[in-house]
Amino acid sequence: MKRIGITATIPVEAVFAASLTPVDLNNVFITNFSPSRFIDAAHSEGFPRNVCSWVKAMYSVARQSKIDAIIAVANGDCSNNQTIAELFKDMGIKVHEFSFPTDPHAESARRRLIEEIDNLCAFLGIDREKLYAAFEDIKRIRRKLKELDELTAKGYVTGEENHSWLVSSSDFKGDLELFEHDLDAFLISAKKRPPKSSVVRLAFVGVPPLITNLYEYINRIGAEVVYNEVQRQFAQFTMLDEKGDIYDQYLNYTYPYSVAGRIKDIKENLQTRNAAGVIHYVQSFCHRQMHDLLFRKHIELPLLSLEADAPGKLDERSKIRLESFVEMLRGKTESQ
Ligand code: SF4
Repeated sequence: MKRIGITATIPVEAVFAASLTPVDLNNVFITNFSPSRFIDAAHSEGFPRNVCSWVKAMYSVARQSKIDAIIAVANGDCSNNQTIAELFKDMGIKVHEFSFPTDPHAESARRRLIEEIDNLCAFLGIDREKLYAAFEDIKRIRRKLKELDELTAKGYVTGEENHSWLVSSSDFKGDLELFEHDLDAFLISAKKRPPKSSVVRLAFVGVPPLITNLYEYINRIGAEVVYNEVQRQFAQFTMLDEKGDIYDQYLNYTYPYSVAGRIKDIKENLQTRNAAGVIHYVQSFCHRQMHDLLFRKHIELPLLSLEADAPGKLDERSKIRLESFVEMLRGKTESQ
C-alpha cells in the first residue's frame, strides 16, 4: 500500500478513505530509537543549525524512508513548510500542499476549507462520499481518545500516556484497526487502576516536547500533567458532542489558527481540570516561541517556560527550575 507522508495534522480521513497509509514524518522521527541521527544527517547535508529540529528531522525522514508522496501544510502550521516542500519536490517526491483558512470565523472559512479538502480528495483520487464514510468510521476512534483524555483529567491515565496516544493519532500509526484494538485494551486496563491523587496538577501547552524524560521527571517530583494542549488538538475530538461534520471538525481545531483561539481553549481546560500551573514548552528556533508573551499575559496561572533544541534528557538547570516551580505550586495548593 502506498505511504503518504504528512508534515502535520491534516484531514487524515481522506488518506484512509483512499486506502493509503499516512505516515506522520514527525512521529517517525520522535519514536525512533535514535532520533538525533535524523538531525545529524540534515546537518551533514548542509542544513543550517539554526533551523528547528522538527524541520531538520522531517527532511531526513523523507530522504531516508520509502515515501510515495507528501501532503505538506502550507498555511496554518509552520512558517518553514513552504521551503521544506520545495526540498521534498527536489528529492523527486510528489507534494500536495494543503492550507487551512487563515481565520476559522470568517464567512468564507468553511467554503475555503471545503475547497481545500476537495483538492486533497482529488489528489488522492477519492470522492466526498468516501471521505464522509471515513469521517464517520474514524469518529468512533476519536470518541475513545476523548475518553482517554477524560481519564487523564481524573487521574487514571498519566500525562505521558496521554501525550503518546494523542500525538500518534495524527496518522493512527498507519493502521486504524490495530490502533483501535490497542486503544481498547489500554482503556480497559487504565480504568482498573486506582486514580492518582495528591499530586500537583500541571498543564502542558505548546508543541510536543523533544525532552525525552520530561513527563517522567515531572512524576518524580510529585506532579502530573493533566492536560496536553496541542496533543489534544491533534486528536480532533473537541467537537464530537456537537452534530458537526468533517469541516466543523477542522474549523474547531485551534492549532492552525490564531493564538487567541488557543488561549481560549487553554483557559477553559485549566479551569475544568483544576490545574495549578502551566508549563509552556518552546522549541528552539520556532516562530511560535513568541506566543510565550501572550500566554504570560493572558493565562492567570503561574507559568514556567521550558526550551529545548534537540532530543535528549532534561538538563540540570531545567530540572532545578521545574523542582522550584512544582514546590512553589505545592505550597500554594496546601495553603488554600
Ligand atoms: S516547532 Fe515550530 S518551527 Fe518547528 S516544525 Fe513546529 S511550528 Fe515549525
